[in-house]
Amino acid sequence: MNPIVGVLALQGDFQEHIASFRRLGADTREVRTEAQLAAVDSLVVPGGESTSMAKLMDIYGLREPLVAFARSGKPVWGTCAGLILLASRLQEQRPEPLGIMDTVVQRNGFGRQVDSFETDLDIAGVAGGPYHAIFIRAPKIVEIGPSVEALATLEDGTIVAARERNVLVTAFHPELTTDDRVHGFFLAMAAEVAAR
Ligand code: GLN
Repeated sequence: MNPIVGVLALQGDFQEHIASFRRLGADTREVRTEAQLAAVDSLVVPGGESTSMAKLMDIYGLREPLVAFARSGKPVWGTCAGLILLASRLQEQRPEPLGIMDTVVQRNGFGRQVDSFETDLDIAGVAGGPYHAIFIRAPKIVEIGPSVEALATLEDGTIVAARERNVLVTAFHPELTTDDRVHGFFLAMAAEVAAR
């Protein structure tokens, strides 16, 4: 049976993620409840507004199930606001992150004056040349723990894609392009975990 990809569909650009995975032929479903989470093999936490998403997560009773999902070793990928929510600690008071990846993150870390930018990145494990990455009020990973591996960095050394075992984060938005290679990378990660 093909693994089922879940996309957390509380808020943010979950539709775009679903479209990207469907272009790759992956069975993809929206996740809003604990029961829906139990029916998927991997999960994407999309970009959006991390404080709103955290509030909805608490209203829907999803905080503990999400942590348990990641701790069980199932693949999880956070983009932008998703990266914020997966962090172990934020430099800001809000929201309270899930503590799934050993990172310290600064929200809107690239400054409001340069809210958004685009750049070409080399991403470890993503073949086929540089990846055109779109950053929108992106968070900055300011510290990583010893088991976190940087997959892509900006010229100044800022880490913008990282992996810790079954958890992937990107500060940018691969779902806003039609270059589906990062989604393909996540599917490969999921297949690797499933084969264990
Ligand atoms: N700045 C947003 C936040 O703090 C994240 C932006 C995004 O996901 N594009 O939640």
